[in-house]
Amino acid sequence: MAVRGAAPLNERARLADYPFLPGAESLVADSAPSIGDLLRHGGYQRAREVGRARIRAAIDDPTGATGVAELAHLDPEERYLSFQYARLVLSAARTRAPIRRWAVAEAKEATGRLAEEDVETVLDISRRLGVPLELEGTELAFRLPDYLHLATAIREAEFRLVHQAVRGGLVRVSKARAVRLLQEGIRRELGQPMELADATRAAIAEAEAELLADVEARMPAPTARSGTGVGPLRPEIFPPCIRAMRRSLQDGENLSHAGRFALAAFLHRAGADADTIVDSYRGAPDFDEAVTRYQVEHITQRDGGRGYSPSECATLQTHGLCYKEGDKQSKIAADQLPDPLCHEPRLRHPLQYYRIRGGKVAIDDLGADDGSATTPAGGPGTPGAPGRRPSTARR
Ligand code: SF4
Repeated sequence: MAVRGAAPLNERARLADYPFLPGAESLVADSAPSIGDLLRHGGYQRAREVGRARIRAAIDDPTGATGVAELAHLDPEERYLSFQYARLVLSAARTRAPIRRWAVAEAKEATGRLAEEDVETVLDISRRLGVPLELEGTELAFRLPDYLHLATAIREAEFRLVHQAVRGGLVRVSKARAVRLLQEGIRRELGQPMELADATRAAIAEAEAELLADVEARMPAPTARSGTGVGPLRPEIFPPCIRAMRRSLQDGENLSHAGRFALAAFLHRAGADADTIVDSYRGAPDFDEAVTRYQVEHITQRDGGRGYSPSECATLQTHGLCYKEGDKQSKIAADQLPDPLCHEPRLRHPLQYYRIRGGKVAIDDLGADDGSATTPAGGPGTPGAPGRRPSTARR
């Protein structure tokens, strides 16, 4: 941890509010605790407790709406250390899912605050994050490479470059859009585990074994609904498109309306229970539990519980949701490669893929796997897509 001189008062408050900023470690320049100190020293007990609270709040509610009340009572040093402690503990988790989920919540919480700040502060934070905004008259603008870097994982159509005002290598954005893009940059940065030596990782895992076990137990595992006779769901043999949709949401990226609908309809026909389907959307930047449950119910309960017909391959290809050539964003090397089964002419439907790979389908009207049978008709229009608040809804 680099040691710098102590920061002035207003700077200390800012670094505590945005503890991921480069230079935030100057808050603890005087004490510069080691990882061992953070894990065990009595003087850091409060920082550990609040760090655990940050983790639990994020795992329970990755929208970042569940604040950690104790933070208001901590001084800037302890706030910073509680953040670092949470990051450290999650970096020792066995999978990346918990830290990704925490990253979504922390990024949303921080940018929720940033959205309330003045333009000067937004400019300052963007500069410190290494994606400096410029003031263009009364508007803000990102440099084109920065915009592309930040917007890559955002699927909403309004963030696509073709819809932006680009001039002189700058992409003009509103303050709200700038903050949303910064959120994406923060999420991506925080979602990367810290690099830890094996012995350090083991020490953290041992010290926080109970918390890590609890966190991992709370991460949603795909569950089949009772009475379907399909046995456990097998996400490891879901087709590339469905795996990419789930990966995208778990990473806190947005998923298009068509993708959200396709995912819910697929999971329902594959036999997933309602909680599993709702949990799939928890990482979405605009996740709203009540709205998601309502929309999932709408998609799955139609037609006596058969639900809407899941999208077939041709439809997913039209929407840019087919990943038969591989998902380059995936951390799993095999998922980045072309999928041979998807290239077979008989493959017409994601559920057909799942069945051929050995999965059981709860509601199956596909017919034979050779593609001779008719694939399900396209849904009669897509209803509200899960995980997304209707545009008229307010927080
Ligand atoms: S070919 Fe079909 S099953 Fe395979 S990734 Fe594309 S849409 Fe999904």
